[in-house]
Amino acid sequence: MSKKPSLLSGILGYRCPDCRIGRIFVQQGISPLKSMLQINKECPHCHQKLQGESNNGPGINYALTTILLFLNILWYYPIFGMSCKDNSIFYFLAASTLVVILMQPILMRLSRVLYLYILLAFRG
Ligand SMILES: [Zn+2]
Repeated sequence: MSKKPSLLSGILGYRCPDCRIGRIFVQQGISPLKSMLQINKECPHCHQKLQGESNNGPGINYALTTILLFLNILWYYPIFGMSCKDNSIFYFLAASTLVVILMQPILMRLSRVLYLYILLAFRG
């Protein structure tokens, strides 16, 4: 048997949570946006069921979005700086929101993948 790819490369590569080889999404890229969230019924490699009875992707997406909103401070602060004395906190919030909106397609896909991984982990 060949070694399984790492957990991280499985998640970031949108691969099947079981074998980490088969692709989860029907479409590889995020374009066209309309069908980017379509996932295969089962893993093309190991036939692990991928479409569950429930989908908690949106819940995880909400959490990821919030986390990212605050993580943006890590690059914003060193570049632009921030102070309580002027409006810079509002500029940060605007910039951060924009980044999060632009990354939404990626976050939505990532949320679905994470959900599948979590679901499988609990099923054992
Ligand atoms: Zn698989």
